[in-house]
Amino acid sequence: MDAQITIIGAGVIGLAIAEEASSLFSEVFINEKHTTFGQETSSRNSEVIHAGIYYPQGSLKARLCVEGRNLLYDYCSRFGVPFNKCGKLIVATDENEVSVIEGIRKTAEGNGVILDILGPGEIRKLEPEIFALAALWSPETGIIDTHSLMKRLETNSLNNGCQIAYASEVTGIRKIDGGYEVTVSDAGGSSYSFSTRIVVNAAGLTADKVSGMAGMNDERLTIHFCKGDYFRIRPPKNRLLKRLVYPVPHTNLEGIGIHVTIDMGGGVRLGPDVKYLESNIYDYHVDPGKQEAFWKSARKFLPFLEYDDIMPDMAGIRPKTQKPGEAVRDFYIREESERGNPGFINLIGMESPGLTSCLAIAKLVVSMIRLEEKN
Ligand SMILES: Cc1cc2nc3c(=O)[nH]c(=O)nc-3n(C[C@H](O)[C@H](O)[C@H](O)COP(=O)(O)OP(=O)(O)OC[C@H]3O[C@@H](n4cnc5c(N)ncnc54)[C@H](O)[C@@H]3O)c2cc1C
Repeated sequence: MDAQITIIGAGVIGLAIAEEASSLFSEVFINEKHTTFGQETSSRNSEVIHAGIYYPQGSLKARLCVEGRNLLYDYCSRFGVPFNKCGKLIVATDENEVSVIEGIRKTAEGNGVILDILGPGEIRKLEPEIFALAALWSPETGIIDTHSLMKRLETNSLNNGCQIAYASEVTGIRKIDGGYEVTVSDAGGSSYSFSTRIVVNAAGLTADKVSGMAGMNDERLTIHFCKGDYFRIRPPKNRLLKRLVYPVPHTNLEGIGIHVTIDMGGGVRLGPDVKYLESNIYDYHVDPGKQEAFWKSARKFLPFLEYDDIMPDMAGIRPKTQKPGEAVRDFYIREESERGNPGFINLIGMESPGLTSCLAIAKLVVSMIRLEEKN
């Protein structure tokens, strides 16, 4: 075999797997179609280290988020990746929402996440400018500089001997004796193939297509692009907020409501909203016509916000496996022996909290590789 382990995709998850795998195995390769890492979803998100509040108990999302969050804080401290454990408020702005937050607290507790319920006086001490009748306080939530995280993961992987081929798009995968033949198209348009024992599909928005290349087409694992737009709060009003502030989420968790995220540079964004795209096109355009809807949503808990205080910012696309209106699905992370593809590990539907969970996902995937290597 030319390679022992081939990882497709250099987003935050592919890079985290590469770092963990290359610390244990030799001949680890990454193929990434862009000219550098993190050009898709990993650079277009809220950069929040989630506590693990909302996910159904026992789900991979719940488990990997809590485990991943702890690993991530340790990792950031160890390697100097900028982060801020600033905490998050989930705010109830009417009586109905006040009754909902107790349920959220219980779900969180089931996941091992302890939240406090705060009254208006305590909320004012943390965030004097917001309006809320009551709030949940999550001290474990934080923010991270995702670019620095990916740079560190890339550097550590390279130092471990991992090889990364940028501008090389995987266009075909064929099962061969003891592994897979992977065909790659490079920047110059020429193609080459190599053999690998293990394939890890961390291809994000096109992970379903990559799985399909190996003959695993499954309607339930088809990715539906679901866009989220952000607006930015203009200075000086951005300086009025120091923590993450979220509304009480919708019941089906398609998104967790237009919320306030802060970044490591002190910028403050509102978003993301939720809009399934009709076809899976990479549409990152933010419609300025949404300004009124964003403003009205945020004004419920940010009474100081005027219409002109916000402006269109950026957008990201969630790789969802559920269609619009369907119940939220868990991450799909499987070694595919049962589907006739031993040594092929699929990661599909890696939406939020994929960033928070990346280091725990890497450990899970590497445990699958170790098991496969024993067989
Ligand atoms: C709007 C939004 C907000 C979010 N907010 C948060 C948050 O606050 N906290 C959190 O924990 N998570 C959040 N997430 C989720 C998080 O961003 C993702 O889970 C994570 O970035 C996924 O990483 P990835 O490596 O799987 O995917 P990606 O970053 O998409 O990387 C996949 C890579 O695969 C490459 N690729 C694809 N096909 C091929 C091919 N055929 N050949 C070679 N390369 C290929 C792509 O070019 C890409 O670089 C959010 C997501 C969105 C969309």
